[in-house]
Amino acid sequence: MVIGWIGTGIMGGAMMCHIQAAGHEVYAYNRTKAKALAYEKKGIIVCDTIAECVKNADVIFTMVAYPQDVEAVFEEIFANAKAGSIAVDMTTSSPTLAKQLYEKGKQKEIAVLDAPVSGGDSGAKAGTLSSMVGGDSAVYEKVLPLFQRMGTPHYMGECGCGQHTKACNQICVAGAVAAMSEAIYYARRNHLDEAKMLEAISTGAAGSWQINHTAPRVLAKDFAPGFFIKHFIKDMHIIQSVMKEQGQRLEMLDSVCAIYEELAKQGYENDGTQSLIRYYEGNSEESV
Ligand code: NAP
Repeated sequence: MVIGWIGTGIMGGAMMCHIQAAGHEVYAYNRTKAKALAYEKKGIIVCDTIAECVKNADVIFTMVAYPQDVEAVFEEIFANAKAGSIAVDMTTSSPTLAKQLYEKGKQKEIAVLDAPVSGGDSGAKAGTLSSMVGGDSAVYEKVLPLFQRMGTPHYMGECGCGQHTKACNQICVAGAVAAMSEAIYYARRNHLDEAKMLEAISTGAAGSWQINHTAPRVLAKDFAPGFFIKHFIKDMHIIQSVMKEQGQRLEMLDSVCAIYEELAKQGYENDGTQSLIRYYEGNSEESV
C-alpha cells in the first residue's frame, strides 16, 4: 500500500516506522522538515508539501499536535488526496472536530477515522499502543492490519467515539499521574526509600502504568518529554469543553489541570508530564 504520514514528532515518527517495516511505501511530511529527514535512512520518502505526501496515498495518517493543526492538515488532505482513500487522525483532538472531518470527507469520497492512541513514547517505539477508533466499521476493517502494526486497536463506534474514549483515558491518566506524584512526595517527606516504596506498591492495588513507566523518570530527575505538559493541558481543555457543553464539570480533572497550568505558567510546558513533582516540591530544581 502507499501510505502518507503527516507529523513525525515523538509519537508519529516511531509509529510510522512500524508501518514502513511491514513493507509499505511511506511518504512523510512534517512542518519542521528535519524531523522527517531523520527517517530517510530507514527508507521513508520525505516530502516538501502535504500535497506531495498524500496525492497517491491509499491510507493517510496524521499525528500532529493540536486540533487546529489537525484542521489545517485535513484542509490540505481534502484538497489533494484521491477519491477512495482513507484518512486516519491519530492526534488526540476534539470529538466535535472528528465528526466535522468525517462529514467533510464524505463529500470528497475520503473516508475518515478518528484513532487516538495511548501508551506513551515507549509504546510508540515498541509498537504496543492502544488505539481507540471511531468511524465506519467497514473502513476500520480495511485499516486494521496497519493499526495492528502499531499495537492493539479497539473499534469504539461511530465517528468521534475514538476521541471520546481517549478523553476517558486522559481522565484516568490525570488521576494516576497526580496520585503517583503525591505518593513520591509523601515518601520523600517521610524518609522512605522511594524506589522501594514504588516497587512495593506497584504489585498491589495501587499499581499503574504511571508507576511503572513515569515514576522512574521522576526518580531519575529526567524531565524530558515523553508526553508534553502542553499537550496534556490541551487534552484536559478538550474534556472540559465537552463537559461544559453538558453543564457538567469533573472536579479531579479540573484540579490536576489547574496544577499543570500553573507549571506551564512557570515555563515548564515543554517538560514531560512527570514534571508534576515540581509543583509538590515547590518548583525548585534543588529540591526535586
Ligand atoms: P510532537 O513531538 O510535538 O509531534 C507533533 C508533530 O506534528 C511535530 O513534529 C510537529 O511539527 C508536527 N506538526 C504539527 N502541526 C503540523 C502541521 N500543521 N503540519 C505538519 N506537521 C505538523 O508531539 P507528540 O508527543 O508526538 O504528540 C502528538 C500527538 O499525540 C498529540 O496530540 C499528543 O497529545 C498525542 N499523544 C502523545 C503521547 C505521548 O506520550 N507523547 C501519547 C499519546 C498521544 P514541528 O516539529 O514543526 O512542531
